[in-house]
Order: sequence, then C-alpha cells, then structure tokens
Amino acid sequence: MRMTEPRRVILGILMRAKDHPTADDIYRRAREEYKAISVATVYRTINLLEAAGIIEGCLFQSNCVHYEVTNAQPHDHLIDLDTSRVVEFRYEIFDQLKENIAKDLGYRMADCRVEIYAHSLKNKVTE
Ligand SMILES: [Zn+2]
Repeated sequence: MRMTEPRRVILGILMRAKDHPTADDIYRRAREEYKAISVATVYRTINLLEAAGIIEGCLFQSNCVHYEVTNAQPHDHLIDLDTSRVVEFRYEIFDQLKENIAKDLGYRMADCRVEIYAHSLKNKVTE
C-alpha cells in the first residue's frame, strides 16, 4: 500500500493512541496535524487501512466503531460503562480456557474476542 500523507497521519494517530478512537476522534486528531484533511478522506483512509488488515475496528456496545492498529498481541477489552473508557487485558489462563471451550465443542479456535462491560468499583457513590 502506498503511504500517502493522510494514511501516514491516520496510522500515526492510531499507533500513538492509548484509547480506541472512533472515526470522529481520528478526524479531530488528524485536523491538528493536517488542517486540510476532510472527513471523507479520513473515513476512506480508515476503510482502506482496515481492508488491508493494518488496523481493525471493534464494535463495542455503542454503535460506534473503535479503531486500533492490528495487534500482534491478542487481547480482550473491558468497557467502563460510566466513562466509556476501554481497558485492554490479557490473562493466559483465560486464553487457555477459550481454546479448551472450542476444543470441547469440536473446534480449533481461530480467533476470539471478549468484551466485559462493567462499572468501576472505585469512585462509587455511597449514600
Ligand atoms: Zn484493544
């Protein structure tokens, strides 16, 4: 894939992102580096990068797709329902469990994504 300026800018944003930005977030951040970039270009570029397998979208509970660079390190997500923050986690014991479940059902696991939706135990309002 040819590295055009919009592709370089958007990929850079996603590589630096600690969160899982939506297309709108990416557009807002892209504007800071590349004033002339249009919404259409951002969406088109995201689709191209996704089709090429360089980035991937996760559709969490919301109807917004959140993007991240395709990770060599598989991981699962916990979504904080109060702040919409996305926390990445990986537990080897859990990975093993997923494989065992597939195996018990007569399959070899190819991929698995787990999303935990939760409320934080911290900052809990006590009455
Ligand atoms: Zn992630």
